[in-house]
Amino acid sequence: MTSARDPRALTRELLRFNTINPPGMERACAQHLGKLLEGAGFRCKYHEFAESRTSLVAEIGGTADGKPPICFTGHIDTVPLGAAKWTRDAFSGEADGDRLYGRGSTDMKSGIAAFVVAAIALADRLQSGPGLVLVITAGEEIGCEGARYLADHKLLGRAGAIVVAEPTGNYPYVGHKGLAWFELETRGVTAHGSMPEVGENAILKMAKAIGALEQFHFDVEHHAVMGKPTMNVGTIHGGLNTNSVPDSTRVTLDTRTVPGIDHAHLCHSLEHLLGPHGASVQKIVDVPPLYTEPADEWVQQVFDDCTPLLDGRPVPRTITFSTDGADLKRGFGGPPAVILGPGEPTLAHQTDEWCSMGRIEQSAALFERLMRKWCGV
Ligand SMILES: [Zn+2]
Repeated sequence: MTSARDPRALTRELLRFNTINPPGMERACAQHLGKLLEGAGFRCKYHEFAESRTSLVAEIGGTADGKPPICFTGHIDTVPLGAAKWTRDAFSGEADGDRLYGRGSTDMKSGIAAFVVAAIALADRLQSGPGLVLVITAGEEIGCEGARYLADHKLLGRAGAIVVAEPTGNYPYVGHKGLAWFELETRGVTAHGSMPEVGENAILKMAKAIGALEQFHFDVEHHAVMGKPTMNVGTIHGGLNTNSVPDSTRVTLDTRTVPGIDHAHLCHSLEHLLGPHGASVQKIVDVPPLYTEPADEWVQQVFDDCTPLLDGRPVPRTITFSTDGADLKRGFGGPPAVILGPGEPTLAHQTDEWCSMGRIEQSAALFERLMRKWCGV
């Protein structure tokens, strides 16, 4: 099958599966990749966190107690097409010059195709030795559901390093901030708008709670590579009609955290600050920060291997979006991780998303080199 050897053809093949999340429905796409990998000698296991929400863990080689395998990971779900009309077909794998168009071309079916093709090319040589584990997840775009399920249920086994093939234009990033979203709610007592003194106004309570947020301090206010943690009040909903006292107000809060900030503790600190104003706090999305010290020996080797593809040697940087890498790192017991893949970071989630086919080829060759070095073949 040519797509097993050609990462551009495989990307195109993956684009034809509609895996827009919601609803995701990744099963057919996961099985397609599983069949290709099984044909090359991989041991494949499917794990569903919900009906048809299928992640794939594919392994080759590996020993019980020697050097652990290297992990390559990517998600097969995509975001919706958005409100603006596409000028290209989002699912047929339309090409124009070097550009391959489609939802998921950049984020991140190209990255998956690149490591799957590299893995299949080396499969025979990887049967003995540390080997590889490919973790292909469902449900990344909404809170990393697939990766979290794999980590929480201890379905991952071992890995000594992780490459997250998200769109970076083949620049290796050493991590990203964490993501903790909260819903705040105040309750009141409704009354006629002409008699506010008989009711209890949930909007006014929330206004005071939001005011209190301005006094909030994170446990860690600065990180050497990532900079500052942030907080944004994203939405507010309260009241039903102008002539009633509102009895409920909800706010969503988006915090982006740096290493050293524990999300459970962050939630507790918010409860402590907002409780006196009558606001409850519920965590609704939780992706921990991902970070590897740039001085790590393997990270330095990845930097070496990326240098010829870039304008110069990479410098330690973190990326703005969050990934499955954080949950997988936890599930694998904390190995070093880099975010490195062929997609264009500025095109993720965009209308008329595309990926450079030259970069896809480049990634497949780079991933093959990283696999060979890790496994000594
Ligand atoms: Zn992505």
